[in-house]
Amino acid sequence: GVTITGLHKSYGDNEVLKGIDITVAPGEVVCLIGASGSGKSTLLRCVNRLEDPNAGTIMVGEFEATDPDVDLDAMRRQIGMVFQQFNLFPHLSVLENCTVTPRKVLKQSKEAAEAEALAQLDKVGLKHLADRKPDQLSGGQQQRVAIARALTMKPQLMLFDEPTSALDPETVGDVLASMRQLAEAGMTMIVVTHEMGFAREVADRVVFMDQGVVVEEGPAEQVISNPSQPRTQDFLRRVL
Ligand code: ATP
Ligand code: MG
Repeated sequence: GVTITGLHKSYGDNEVLKGIDITVAPGEVVCLIGASGSGKSTLLRCVNRLEDPNAGTIMVGEFEATDPDVDLDAMRRQIGMVFQQFNLFPHLSVLENCTVTPRKVLKQSKEAAEAEALAQLDKVGLKHLADRKPDQLSGGQQQRVAIARALTMKPQLMLFDEPTSALDPETVGDVLASMRQLAEAGMTMIVVTHEMGFAREVADRVVFMDQGVVVEEGPAEQVISNPSQPRTQDFLRRVL
């Protein structure tokens, strides 16, 4: 699981995270929602220390992400991250995209890495496209490859930052279906999304952030269908 306590992050004198407390239990799916600029991406980036927080603690499993002496490589091996942009290696095939890191970092044999990659590609329905190059895939297919690639590292935690925002509408559903399958398989997930249908159906909890603070959190159905805070109500009126 993940425990975030008193997290502060500033860029210069712009305080972007103003004391965030969020706990994600093992196997739990938490959707993070909020307006543009509210600090959602910054929060995710602090969890795998792509950003250095100014104050607060973050525990990821047994790792204290905020400990200056934490073994960052070991910690990041436990964390899969999927961004809005798929960031696949354009010159590598789908299969190679999914084997390069396990071979390099986990020192897997080519055969073992390929077997695992094909198993993960099969789960997202793309095993048959293993020999293609990324530019021969739709955006939604590329994003599912990015998910499969992350899963080949056997992470304990998956972070998603608006994974469907850059996709053509007709390919969004397949990506959300793969994410739902992952959630149902028990993965611990933090998902920044504007897909309120997904949040309502898949998230165990929804956290609404505004201007660097958690304004409201609770069961998905409660926060999305029956929010108690005026700021949450305003936000949902705009996005639903
Ligand atoms: P969006 O929904 O648009 O993705 P967000 O909730 O993810 O928004 P962040 O990207 O976390 O928001 O940004 C929060 C604030 O931090 C914004 O005001 C942004 O301009 C600022 N910010 C983010 N990254 C940096 C950076 N590297 N340097 C300076 N300011 C930054
Ligand atoms: Mg963002």
